[in-house]
Amino acid sequence: MKFSASRRESSSAGLTVGSGHVEELLSSGPDPLTIGRRLRHIRRAKGLTLADAAALASISPSALSLIENGKREAKLSVLITLATGLGTGLGELLATAAPSRRAALEIELEKAQRAGSFQALEIPAVRTGPRLPMEALEALVGLHRALAKVRAERAATPEQARRANADLRDRMRRQGNYFGEIESVAAELLTATKYDGGPITRTVVDRMCAYLGFRVVHTNDLPESTRTVTDLGHKIIYLPQPDAGQHDSRSLALQALGHVVLDHAVPQDYSEFLEQRVEINYFAASLLIPERGALSLLRRAKAAKDIAIEDLRDAYAVSYETAAHRFTNLATRHLDLPVHFMRISSSGVIFKAYENDGVQFPTDTTGAIEGQRVCRYWTARVVFDQPDLSTAYQQYTDTNSGTYWCTAVVDRTSAGLFSVSVGVPYADVKWMRGRETTERSKSRCPDPTCCALPPAELADRWEGMAWPSARVHSHLLAAMPPGVFPGVDQTDVLGFLDRHSVP
Ligand SMILES: [Zn+2]
Repeated sequence: MKFSASRRESSSAGLTVGSGHVEELLSSGPDPLTIGRRLRHIRRAKGLTLADAAALASISPSALSLIENGKREAKLSVLITLATGLGTGLGELLATAAPSRRAALEIELEKAQRAGSFQALEIPAVRTGPRLPMEALEALVGLHRALAKVRAERAATPEQARRANADLRDRMRRQGNYFGEIESVAAELLTATKYDGGPITRTVVDRMCAYLGFRVVHTNDLPESTRTVTDLGHKIIYLPQPDAGQHDSRSLALQALGHVVLDHAVPQDYSEFLEQRVEINYFAASLLIPERGALSLLRRAKAAKDIAIEDLRDAYAVSYETAAHRFTNLATRHLDLPVHFMRISSSGVIFKAYENDGVQFPTDTTGAIEGQRVCRYWTARVVFDQPDLSTAYQQYTDTNSGTYWCTAVVDRTSAGLFSVSVGVPYADVKWMRGRETTERSKSRCPDPTCCALPPAELADRWEGMAWPSARVHSHLLAAMPPGVFPGVDQTDVLGFLDRHSVP
């Protein structure tokens, strides 16, 4: 988790001047390369050689050369002496503009060639001295710009996406699915908007948006490729009409606000896009179920050995999924409980999952779990076979990595039935409501004879006679949707904003 200060790595990480005040002044100023080029430009305009100018500041010509090439950061005292010696002001030297168009192109080429992403290509760098023809300089800079654009828009392959997802889940597991910085940002916002407990109503959400200068507008013509659109210029968050989607519109509004509050920059690649998605989800959940209130509820429940996700859901008027997700955020950090969480389709395919309790999700070769099918005997799947889908179902499951107790509910959506389940290892079931269940099953997955292969007797009887026509999962074949915001139709979005900003 990184916030703006570190994420927006400043390209102007400038001079080492040793004074906080000056550093502050320079924080939005030129970078060493620009300073170097301005210095060289001024020196040449005065007709001074490298040696002449170096002598002015009592440094060696080679040191001055390094400074002029942006390879060494000059001390402020050296810059002041040089400015005085060259008969110019420090301000002139530190101006952000390149001294000429040629210098600007040279600086851009230098920077592009010094970037790690270029060096990884192992293409030799071109010297940007005066002997490089202007035409070649223009062409090289043009190519670097085009390359940067392609990189930004590069469609992540499904494999890259799956790896990125697996990496992200690893990081979430290491921190127990708890994001302290987001919790404090949320707590500040709650305090600032005078929240005093209970569910976060639509009104409270509007108040939070207003506090941050944003207005929420519901509309029925959002571009199809988006969930929400934010007009950063006019500070308007556009949401779908409340009846238009299955998403809780409070959650959508808070997620849109999350991008702003967490100071997200345009994602550089698919993994940053995913990371931002996780962060805004977390941000929305941490407001819908504020940490402090949730903790007092959960701690009381733990003391009474009566923890139930339903209580969290009902106390904050949220979906079971939001309550379950929030429980996993707080359980390990504050209640000392390792947990797992899953959202799967009725055919057993994982859409979301998290664990830090050793449960072994099915994975593919990249370590990704999304799209994998969980064991037929796990609670998350057995729940679909229950006669009454409206209540939570609990079960103990013996697996290769131990016995787990899980509770699951079925969620009816326009895309079909899904189950949301939360589980803990056997040792921790004593804290959970529903532990008295006598339901128990045994899973031998990933042993294929557990449930992946049909029973031998059945297979024999139908040998050579079954020919199903598979439903093609076209999304599995497609490359990741292209674009900075994957799959978003930018023309639709800009057209939409334009339409809505008519005075
Ligand atoms: Zn199985």
